[in-house]
Amino acid sequence: MTDRLAGLLLFLPVPIVLWLFTRAPLGVGASLGIGIVLMASHRLYARPFALSRAGRRCLWCGGPAGDGPRVAVEEPHGRTAWRACGPRHADLLARVFGTAHRWRWFLRVGILGSLALFLAGALPAARGWLGPVTFADASAFFRLGVSLTVLPFGWLAASIAPRPAEEIRVPFPVHVQALIGTAAMLWLFRIVGLVWIAQVAVYAFRRP
Ligand SMILES: [Zn+2]
Repeated sequence: MTDRLAGLLLFLPVPIVLWLFTRAPLGVGASLGIGIVLMASHRLYARPFALSRAGRRCLWCGGPAGDGPRVAVEEPHGRTAWRACGPRHADLLARVFGTAHRWRWFLRVGILGSLALFLAGALPAARGWLGPVTFADASAFFRLGVSLTVLPFGWLAASIAPRPAEEIRVPFPVHVQALIGTAAMLWLFRIVGLVWIAQVAVYAFRRP
């Protein structure tokens, strides 16, 4: 199996978790529980896979890196060594990581804050303990908070020039984006962000 196909398969838990959280297809309690287990266990296999290929895959496009430039990244739990297939993709990585570092509080509050509030409120909302607030409201809030964060990042991050000689520091572990390539991850941010904003707008318009 190619690295790209294996990486794509190992990335699948991410959309599955988002589907469980936002749609609760198995009921709210079971969907959230399974989603949290999938989320917490993902790094156990995804990170070793990504790191074992970090020297031969381009972190930007996910293709073979050959003897392209090395990219050292300061992750939250230490420094890791990755690679790009050429100077163009190394430059795009420096731009996106530079923006992620500068926007780190915006990204943390927007993504982790929305997730934490959603996980805290979803089950009580489903049980009717939050008055008029339903699980559908909690799901819409989560999608809105994440969309408003990943949309500007997805569309702008690669066009903001990195500071010269800036050390590459990122607020999140990079093994998730390494599974499919950073470029594909940014496209997911752009497209899922737009779809979720549209869904929330329709939901708000139709809500009784
Ligand atoms: Zn590349």
